[in-house]
Amino acid sequence: MTKRKLKSPELLAPAGTLEKLKIAVHYGADAVYIAGEAYGLRSQAGNFNYEEMAEAVEFAHARGVKVYVASNMVTHHGNERGAGDFFRIIRDIGIDAVIISDPALMQICATDAPGLEMHLSTQQSAVNYETLNFWEDAGLTRCVLGREVSMEEIAEIQEKTNVEIEAFIHGAMCISYSGRCTLSNHMSNRDANRGGCSQSCRWKYGLYDMPALGERYKVGAGEEDTDITEEFSMSATDLSMIKHIPDIVENGIDSLKIEGRMKSIHYVSTVVNVYRRAIDSYLEDPENYELDSAWIDELWKATSRELNTGFFYGQPDESFQLFGERRRKQAYKFAGEVLAYDQETGIATVQQRNVLNTGDSIEIYGPGMRVFTQELGVMVNEKDEEIERAHQAMQIVRMKVDQPVRPHDILRKANVKKVRQDKKKELQQQG
Ligand code: SF4
Repeated sequence: MTKRKLKSPELLAPAGTLEKLKIAVHYGADAVYIAGEAYGLRSQAGNFNYEEMAEAVEFAHARGVKVYVASNMVTHHGNERGAGDFFRIIRDIGIDAVIISDPALMQICATDAPGLEMHLSTQQSAVNYETLNFWEDAGLTRCVLGREVSMEEIAEIQEKTNVEIEAFIHGAMCISYSGRCTLSNHMSNRDANRGGCSQSCRWKYGLYDMPALGERYKVGAGEEDTDITEEFSMSATDLSMIKHIPDIVENGIDSLKIEGRMKSIHYVSTVVNVYRRAIDSYLEDPENYELDSAWIDELWKATSRELNTGFFYGQPDESFQLFGERRRKQAYKFAGEVLAYDQETGIATVQQRNVLNTGDSIEIYGPGMRVFTQELGVMVNEKDEEIERAHQAMQIVRMKVDQPVRPHDILRKANVKKVRQDKKKELQQQG
């Protein structure tokens, strides 16, 4: 029997900083997206200056990984100033494409930086093939679909367009329509479409009984307060397509995007690691592919909201919203990164990222889903002194590890607060 040759989709990871970019590449991303110091949508993320971009491109290209720059803000009058120089410089640095939303920026990019590929941002809410064909005619080579498209629609779009398709497969969802939300603008005077979203949808709101509220505002009504019957938020659950990799690959989506340029190294490494393994497993042997429950367990270690499939399989119902629920505490905390390993002695040099104590139960994981748990023994600091607690930020320590490790392997440990939160919930449920 000859094996079916399936197209390998690109796994596209967020890279809020140079450090995160390198981690994403080590853990198996085929491409990463970053932002420059202007024109992006995350003013709070660690945006790249030109020097950092050049280093990012050199590092990524040496490993066959592409680098895209998100320039997807909606420009108001005057915001576009300097964009021509920006696009020309990043093209010359070697950036592979810009992710762009505003037609004004597209025109400037095409005129001032010919040769720099343009990908349509999800901010343009492209959700049908005619729209994709329109953007292809305008010179764009890829469209990031709006998150509101279903798998069935993707299959049809795929058949009727030649432009590359990119879709979000993991990460936070907007409760509002992609690229159309102005809630943050109204609530906090921060423009969501110019990089300032204050996540107002996730705030706690008071839910009032409307007839009672109407009474209150009637002429002559008293000043007595109307009771808030419930606290709620409009927060959506996060998207995760880990259980549907076959569907994604079979439908020929060209690029699979993970959301989260603001997320930690722990998050980026964990999520990229899991999807890399799942995609490769399917491509290797689609007929015998099975979802491994360990992949889902792994994702939960870096997840803080419930996971769901968004719009892929129909309209999300109320179970796709968090309403009044608190954000979950992440089950594990990022505890350190391996810098070096001595095979002869079995000693790892680690940069700590959270307090490490002798006796802690730690997990060490690396690319390819290598993972093991061990109890932490005595550590040695940079002065060669034995210590039982590494609490200084970014402290370098040496420690004995039970299995071989490699640079960029990550240490994590259980989040005690989360364990307590779960225990409390369990006790409440028991009444
Ligand atoms: S307020 Fe919420 S729904 Fe609106 S853009 Fe921000 S995250 Fe998305």
